[in-house]
Amino acid sequence: MYIGIDDTDSKEGMCTTYLAKLIIDRFGCEGYPRLIRLNPNIPYKTRGNGALNIISDGDKDEIIEIFMEYAHYGKENTNPGIVFMEKIPSSLKNFAVKALHENIEITEALECIEKNKIDYFALGNKRGLIGALAAVGMELNDHTYELIAYRERSKFGKRREIDVKTVIEMDKKYYPLIFDNYDYRNDHLCIAPSSPCPVLYGIRGEAPEILEKTQKMIRSEKVDKKQIFLTNQATDMHLVTKKISEIKEFDSVIVKGEVSESPTTIEGGHVIFKINDSSEIFCAAYEPTKEFRNVIRNQIVGDVVKVYGGVKYTKGLTINLEKIEILKLVPKYTIQKEKCLCGGTLKSKGKGVYKCKKCGKKMNLRKIEVKREIKEGFYEVPPSARRHLSKPLCRYQKLQQSSISQDLSI
Ligand code: ATP
Repeated sequence: MYIGIDDTDSKEGMCTTYLAKLIIDRFGCEGYPRLIRLNPNIPYKTRGNGALNIISDGDKDEIIEIFMEYAHYGKENTNPGIVFMEKIPSSLKNFAVKALHENIEITEALECIEKNKIDYFALGNKRGLIGALAAVGMELNDHTYELIAYRERSKFGKRREIDVKTVIEMDKKYYPLIFDNYDYRNDHLCIAPSSPCPVLYGIRGEAPEILEKTQKMIRSEKVDKKQIFLTNQATDMHLVTKKISEIKEFDSVIVKGEVSESPTTIEGGHVIFKINDSSEIFCAAYEPTKEFRNVIRNQIVGDVVKVYGGVKYTKGLTINLEKIEILKLVPKYTIQKEKCLCGGTLKSKGKGVYKCKKCGKKMNLRKIEVKREIKEGFYEVPPSARRHLSKPLCRYQKLQQSSISQDLSI
């Protein structure tokens, strides 16, 4: 039986992966449980909009008892949902794709359940059914794995004890077979969440065997339980190539365009600029993207770029950058002299002729090409700012199966 679960956690604790693990410990699971990330731009999510899908032949009533006992129902914005089905209806595939790219109404989930006679249980406004259905219906062309280690119950909500040195050693030895463990530039441990949930840490990687092996290197407080999940994390599955005129709020897009308004740093340290492909849109590198903002600050009008990111409405539709590919840098010029001898500012009259605004003197000045501080190429936000679905650049270099097996034998 296929089981889909979602929306069991709150800002105060729990994690849907933990609830799935409790069901697996009681009834077992065929293959790896699947942790499916859905539209990262919708407003209802607590953190990473994750939903769970397991295949298990457990007793439904007992599963619902576990679900009722552990789901954080009653907390703000928690509307748990669970679905059970023997076969996956073909229409569920499209529903899942929609849940990845759009904002779905709860009524649509209820209609899908009714039409396909799907067994379900839900609380609150039943929003959790959207993710529960999508997790079962989602087809994956690419996937990674995450090993999640859980804390003892007495430790929930307390400071996590993880020896960071051992995580760095693990990362240095096995990257890129495992990735996003540590952000060296920002001194940030990426494997541990900051919320009071049951998760101690999660190691992400290309193969289950490598995760089992690498986990042995981490020294930490006692691990109570652990589980490997198959997941669509780090796949870029959320991104769709679009023209600017086609973009809607909540989309995640790849867009090619020309920089049409220079980057400016606004209050809070966010860097904003515009690109154009015959329509125009804002792009933003927010403060948490740290050093990535320096790449953006060096863009000038005319540069050709491909941007990757999620769309939100702020001052207008804005692409929240996850990655940028700089395809063409245009030459940057400065004029030889920026002021007139009298101290007045110079105004361009075209064709290299400048006029002093103070004394009116006209002069011919040469434009000098200056060095661009960046190179054409692919740039990404640091691991500490990476979204779950975002594919790190290290995954773009296709891993050779042989190199994986070679490393496994170390
Ligand atoms: P996690 O903590 O596991 O990373 P999360 O806590 O951020 O995930 P949820 O608690 O799962 O997110 O809450 C997201 C809610 O939004 C769920 O009720 C889910 O069913 C719903 N949802 C998921 N995708 C969509 C969508 N595309 N449109 C509307 N609602 C959605």
